[in-house]
Amino acid sequence: MTVINKKLIKEIDQYLHRLFPINRSITGPGNRESLHILQEIVPIEIKEYPSGLEVYDWVIPPEWRVRDAYIKNSKGVRLVDFQTSNIHLVSYSVPITKKMTFDELEPHLNIHQDLPDAIPYRTSYYKRDWGFSVTHDQFSALQQEKGELEVVIDSELNDNGSLTVGELIIHGETDKEILISSYICHPSLANDNLSGAVLTAFLARELIKGPKRHHSFRIVWVPETIGAIAYCAINEEVMKKIESGLVVTTVGGPGKFGYKQSFDNKHPINKAIEATFKDEGCDFITYPFDIHGSDERQYSSQGFRINTASITKNKYYEYPYYHTSLDNLDYVKAEHITDTLLLHVKVINKFEDIQSSHITNYSHLFYRNRYPNCEVMLSKHSLYPQIGGSIIPRIDEHDELDLILWLLFLCDGTLSLHEVAKKLEVPEQSLLPVIEKLLDKKILEDVSFSTKTQ
Ligand code: ZN
Repeated sequence: MTVINKKLIKEIDQYLHRLFPINRSITGPGNRESLHILQEIVPIEIKEYPSGLEVYDWVIPPEWRVRDAYIKNSKGVRLVDFQTSNIHLVSYSVPITKKMTFDELEPHLNIHQDLPDAIPYRTSYYKRDWGFSVTHDQFSALQQEKGELEVVIDSELNDNGSLTVGELIIHGETDKEILISSYICHPSLANDNLSGAVLTAFLARELIKGPKRHHSFRIVWVPETIGAIAYCAINEEVMKKIESGLVVTTVGGPGKFGYKQSFDNKHPINKAIEATFKDEGCDFITYPFDIHGSDERQYSSQGFRINTASITKNKYYEYPYYHTSLDNLDYVKAEHITDTLLLHVKVINKFEDIQSSHITNYSHLFYRNRYPNCEVMLSKHSLYPQIGGSIIPRIDEHDELDLILWLLFLCDGTLSLHEVAKKLEVPEQSLLPVIEKLLDKKILEDVSFSTKTQ
């Protein structure tokens, strides 16, 4: 491990420990405080969107603030205490001060079915309600209490409040923007998604540091869903021009790397991620685009259609501690985040290489015939005319079959598309639909990004 990485790990670790205890939600002072801390890393601009503001089909909710919350027994002992873990309190709980029996309290309690020691993370953003989440032991202790329980939630929902987002624009040589989005609405949960919010700040620092980049970067820290929707609504014009995006989430677990593809699996953002994993010799899981997930759903919606992928290390939904108090700093380590951060930087470098060179220069595209031993049976792959015997190769111009045979002959992974086209004396563009067909049939493979060019 290099000295630089050791320093980086230490730095990330310090931020994780400072940020972890803060109570965050879709609105509230915890989000502001978290962004203020991240401002020490990069100059994030903090923006406030007022409660009540309509954003497409949604309305910015009142700002939630909580001072204290607990359940005391008749002897005045706190059996459940928000001060011990903010996960105990259902996020957006309305205020309540009431003495009640266990039977009255029970409908407001949540436990985790599979993990007795975990406090499950629950929210009630859009339904005015209150509740607590507890471990199995706490549940039993509450159940065994003979006397009344004192339930206090000292919270408020302020209609004159606001929703807080962080934004940082890094200007590159062109106005073509890459969106990097992370969410800040989870309280003390480390992988989902403190790891993402912290990685995004350090990634921004890396992007600012280096030489001026080809792309510009629009980096945002938003509360999930409502924040992304609000940001799209308020910045609609620029958001509609975004070239591609990354949603940074669950990047700090001890397990395998993975990536969730953007909706067009052939998009260069996916190719850049896969090629980077391969270059680095990383084993990774591919998650095809799915409508569930995070803010890529908003960014990929019909009006925006931003190809947005995610690189993960223990992806949300997949690890047992997901949305529980056990998703903490014993599980998430700065070392893991550093590894994923360095991958993000490499992916962005590769994506920029692809976008700035390939479109106009075919010498960066390489394909390889996956069947080097004799030729594939073209008819089996529906690539051969149905009626045999009528094929006379044309000398002066190439028909499709002719191009297929030449591509299978020439594409061995070492000749670029530019060189192949030159040999055949045809324009590169005329080869592209044929290549696409052969890629679809998995006869050719695209090795552009794993071939070391220059
Ligand atoms: Zn989550």
